[in-house]
Order: sequence, then structure tokens, then C-alpha cells
Amino acid sequence: MSHPVPTSLSPSRVEAFTNCPLAFRFASIERLPEAPSPHATKGSLVHRALELLFTRPADQRTKAAADDDLDRAIAEFRTDPEFTMLGLDEAATTTFFADARTLVDAYFRVEDPTQVRDIGLELRLEAQVGDLTLRGIIDRLDLTAEGDLVVTDYKTGRTPGLQHEQSRLGGVHFYSFLCESVLGRRPAAIRLVYLRSGEIITATPTERSVRFITTRTAAVWKAVEKACLTDDFRPRQSALCSSCSFQRWCPAFGGDPSRAAVEAPLAVGALAAGAPA
Ligand code: SF4
Repeated sequence: MSHPVPTSLSPSRVEAFTNCPLAFRFASIERLPEAPSPHATKGSLVHRALELLFTRPADQRTKAAADDDLDRAIAEFRTDPEFTMLGLDEAATTTFFADARTLVDAYFRVEDPTQVRDIGLELRLEAQVGDLTLRGIIDRLDLTAEGDLVVTDYKTGRTPGLQHEQSRLGGVHFYSFLCESVLGRRPAAIRLVYLRSGEIITATPTERSVRFITTRTAAVWKAVEKACLTDDFRPRQSALCSSCSFQRWCPAFGGDPSRAAVEAPLAVGALAAGAPA
């Protein structure tokens, strides 16, 4: 049985296919629902609080304002399935929100938001490469005093080791490509801001790095197309298996992939209803 070939890709989908074709099939071809993870939900919450902070005039972006913005984001998330499906008890909920506050506080160690000239927040960009639409969302786009564009991407996880740094930057070079395609200008820098450690990894996009992204993305898309036509999505075991939502249907773990289409929605539906999966 062949599968319909996707017509759009985002950096996370490119990454997902290269990490594990079978998990990609479940998530992006069959579009099976996944239970949220505490790490990803906390990241969304902190991103939302920082987005609210940057909707304020520059001189009002204080720590106290960020505290209020996190309170507002928490109020939004309390009823959001992305949070409620985590099923946290009262103690775990307190710890979860306290850690989010630590991350928002830590942001002020990294930069002074009153000095940032942002020109775009949560910016959705897309560009065509042949028949394929490339899509991405940029956390923040800044304009420096020199008139240069800078892409900023917040990270709430750990700073990657040297060996993983380049793959993380691969994702942001993708954003650089989108910026250049849509806005007609290549950003002068791309910054990955690691809130927990206070570290910033900065990359300077070049013609070569942008060309690499388009070549690599086209190659991944070809591989996706071939996998769809031949129904050949093999599991690729790695450290990511421990957090994979589809492990119970993965043949590498003794599961039956054909049951996923029926069972995954039931499992997530049970979580949404407040029952254990
Ligand atoms: S458990 Fe591992 S090998 Fe199996 S689908 Fe998930 S990521 Fe792929």
C-alpha cells in the first residue's frame, strides 16, 4: 500500500524523518495524535510568556511585567488540552509552573528586552522549493541598530554538546533560508538562546549554508516520496525511542504498526478524558 506524498515540510519534520522514518509515518503521514510531553508543554508555555512580554512597548519589558505575562500564559494553559492531558497532580503542577518561572526569570540573564528592536514574533514563513512548500515559525525576528536582521530561537532544553550543535543549527539555517526567500534578505545572524544555561549559540548564515539547506531538504523530500510510494518506513532505534509516543506499535519493540491507526486516537482520547492511557 502506498501513502500520499506530503507537499510541505518543516524543519522539525525533516529532522523527524531522518531520526526515524516509522515515527515520521505515524505522526506526519497518518497524522496520529500524540500525547503531550511535560518538556514540550513547558516550552510552549515559556514561549507564550515571552511572546506576551514582547507585545509590550520596549521600556515596559521588565521582570515584573514578565511575571504577569507568565501568570496570563499559565491561566491560558490551565484549560488547554496540551497541559490538562499531562495529568499532573497538584504538587507536580506547582513544580511545573515554578520551573517555567525559573526559565522566564533566567531570560533576563541572557539579554535586556528593553534594548531589543523586534519586528516579528511567532512569524510564520513559507517558501517553495520545486513542488515542495517549506514552512517554519520564527520565535522572534529583530532589527539591529546597523539595520541587520537577526533570528532568535528560544530553547528551554539543555544546551547540546558539540556533536549535536551542528544539527540544531541545521534547523535554524532553514529559518534563514525562509527569511531570505520571503523577506528578500538573509539574516546576519541566527541565535539559539538556551534559557536554562544562559548560553547563546550564534550562527552566521552564508550562501553556502542556505544552499546546503535546500539541497538537504530536497534530498530528504525525495527519500520521503520514495518511502511513501513503496510503503517502506523503517524503525530507526535511538535514544529518542524512550520518549516516542508510538513505541507500543513499533515492531522494534514487538508492536504491530497496523494497530496504531485505531489504538492511538483511543489512547489520546482516554488521556483527554482524564483516564490513564
Ligand atoms: S520507538 Fe524508536 S524505532 Fe520505534 S517508531 Fe519510535 S523512534 Fe522509531
